[in-house]
Amino acid sequence: MTLFRQLISKLGLNRALMFLLAIATSLLLFIGIPLANQARAQLKPFTGRPAPKLPTLDRIISLVDKDRDRLVTIFKDIHQNAELGFMETRTAGIVAKELKALGYEVKTGIGKTGVVGILRNGDGPKVMYRADMDANAVAEKTGLPYASTKRVERNGEEVPVMHACGHDAHTTWMLGVAKTMVALKSEWKGTLILVGQPDEEGGNGATAMMKDGLYTQKGVPLPDYLIAMHTAPGPTGLVANAEGTRMAGFDQLDVVFKGVGGHGSSPHVTKDPIVMTAHAITQYQTIVARAIDPQETAVITVGAVQAGIDNNVIPGESLLKLNLRWFNPGVRETMLKGIGSINNAIARSYGMPENQLPSLTMKGGAPPLVNDKELVDRMSAQLVNFVGQKGLLATFPATTGSEDVQLLMGDNKNIKLDFAFVGVADPALFAKAQAEGLLVPFSNHNANFQVDLNAIPFGTKVGSVMAMELLGSAK
Ligand SMILES: [Zn+2]
Ligand SMILES: [Zn+2]
Repeated sequence: MTLFRQLISKLGLNRALMFLLAIATSLLLFIGIPLANQARAQLKPFTGRPAPKLPTLDRIISLVDKDRDRLVTIFKDIHQNAELGFMETRTAGIVAKELKALGYEVKTGIGKTGVVGILRNGDGPKVMYRADMDANAVAEKTGLPYASTKRVERNGEEVPVMHACGHDAHTTWMLGVAKTMVALKSEWKGTLILVGQPDEEGGNGATAMMKDGLYTQKGVPLPDYLIAMHTAPGPTGLVANAEGTRMAGFDQLDVVFKGVGGHGSSPHVTKDPIVMTAHAITQYQTIVARAIDPQETAVITVGAVQAGIDNNVIPGESLLKLNLRWFNPGVRETMLKGIGSINNAIARSYGMPENQLPSLTMKGGAPPLVNDKELVDRMSAQLVNFVGQKGLLATFPATTGSEDVQLLMGDNKNIKLDFAFVGVADPALFAKAQAEGLLVPFSNHNANFQVDLNAIPFGTKVGSVMAMELLGSAK
């Protein structure tokens, strides 16, 4: 029974339609778009022609249902033992152990904590399925029996750790897909490559795996297809999958203003980096407002400013941590050039010599994520057989959120990418939250973020359908 029919039987037609509108609304909020009527009009369910149903669809469903208890146990364990980017040693250990037990050829320690499992099954397409494994520096407030209470030291500072973005679900889905594909091995041909990736949140995990020679020294086969899925604050049963540019490009960069420190009572004998910094923060926004075409998307966020300790001491330098979002590389250039020239002009105007102008350090980032149209069409035409037309959102606006999975493609333009969103909210709790005008507890990065346990088998089925659509056809 499709999600929509279930909803109608539970809520009646009118309330079911209201409910779907609420889902669409929350999805828009998730992807960072204000609820303009224009944006709302862009949300459309899948209306294409369904593909012939996978001969293995019913088996996928029953295999995953039988695997449910194992998967939920793994999910709770990973959730309770959340690990930050590049510290995912325990999680990577679970992935390696499970994949080895299933007969995968396993490679560990790629990009520090990355794990790859390979299942070679004759001639056919090479399909890479990627799950990110890292958590967030957020203090969990869900009160769940398996809530994380972990704290770790990062850069000399103790921080809380929580899976507030659902990467614990991503990892579990991958382990479920791994088992399903082994059980269905006689029904497909090709190579399945499962990737447990570190540090998606920091944006450096995929880069670290590539720098470690993922396809060269490490001998992982170059895929024809790359698929990945992300939790979304819609109810379990909903998948959102659309072609084209889905997520913004981003950069993380640090700026250091050098000055001359001294006594707070005598600013005239110092060069105050805090005042320079204050000017810079406000001037950066004029790049977006005055130098970039208003039709373009550009975000400059100063996420951290660090300078000084005492009230009466002018410090010697200050640090700004910036984040940029963009879709057009020209816009990125304009932002970076603008930031550099504002920094230098401010420092010069305060009399800083040429050899002490501000430094700018690029720390990581990724270009926009672009889903391949042909692959998305093919996946959606098959997924609709599982989730039904109303369970498959096929048109929605791109987001200024970002990803780094696309960096696993390197310069290989022939790899086709599909990155889909999967609803993970308990439908009843979600409806209640919506009725109260709340987006929590289902918005990613929130301390109350929680994944419906039914979404564990559901996402596993979605991932298995995607993998079987690609690999089953070669048999
Ligand atoms: Zn996240
Ligand atoms: Zn995430």
